Amino acid sequence: MSASDATLAAAAAAPQVLLSHHLKALKLPAFLSEYAKVAQDCAREGVDHARYLLRLAELELIARERRMVERRIRAARFPAVKSFDSFDFAAIPALNKMLALELARCEYAVRRENVVALGPSGVGKTHVALALGLAACQRGFSVSFATAPALVNQLMEARDERRLLRLQAQLAGVKLLIVDELGYVPFSQTGAELLFETFSQRYEKGSTIITSNLPFQEWTSVFGSERLTGALLDRFTHHVHILEMNGESYRLKQSKSRRRKNAKADVEESCVCDASLTDGIASQEK
Ligand code: ADP
Ligand code: MG
Repeated sequence: MSASDATLAAAAAAPQVLLSHHLKALKLPAFLSEYAKVAQDCAREGVDHARYLLRLAELELIARERRMVERRIRAARFPAVKSFDSFDFAAIPALNKMLALELARCEYAVRRENVVALGPSGVGKTHVALALGLAACQRGFSVSFATAPALVNQLMEARDERRLLRLQAQLAGVKLLIVDELGYVPFSQTGAELLFETFSQRYEKGSTIITSNLPFQEWTSVFGSERLTGALLDRFTHHVHILEMNGESYRLKQSKSRRRKNAKADVEESCVCDASLTDGIASQEK
């Protein structure tokens, strides 16, 4: 390459260097990574400039939406990311599948209604709550997930450290609050009052999903006070969708069916052994 060629190449490269800089400054990463390839496609297809820019703008919007969903999922602090795609509705016939899938469309969150999933341990309550949480993140709602004991701990710690108001404002502002596992651990009086306040502050402002192994009439055993539980249930159940999830533990059912399969395999194996034994005997007898 001659000196003049090098200068020409540098001059030609300069707009790309500058463009790359500007697109980064404007936070348009999809534009930056795709513009050259899309330009080639458009040139080949004879697409005009406006459509070229439109394609890039669409790619940027899709990428931005995906990043926002990822950010909402991270902010929600789900213990695991689960969806209804991996949920076997046949395993829990008591669950109203239509209602669960309808809730996954998140209209309830627009209307600021609540959801409660009730049933014994292992029936998939947390899975359903996570699936609804994920669906809400995908539809643009801010979500926060915590177990009831962890949330009470957070509230008590915040109170001790004089940052309760900030935490309460944060919890009141989130569009969907998921409180998992209400019922296993009873709260102290302060804990119960703080959780009650949290629910009160969210009343008709945002949606709350609660999962519990206890039917409503037994929630007093967690909150301690009948008066407090009554007031809480009064607000919470004003607009509530109830997912009844009575059934056998999914894990237990799986391990039982695994055991059955293993036992069947053992029987079949011993039959094969027996057959080869009798074959052997038969061939000896010949
Ligand atoms: P719960 O919260 O009611 O105690 P989980 O949601 O934690 O139950 O379920 C226990 C495990 O079994 C989880 O790994 C969950 O994903 C799985 N599970 C439960 N029910 C189902 C189901 N119907 N289909 C697929 N996986 C399920
Ligand atoms: Mg659970």
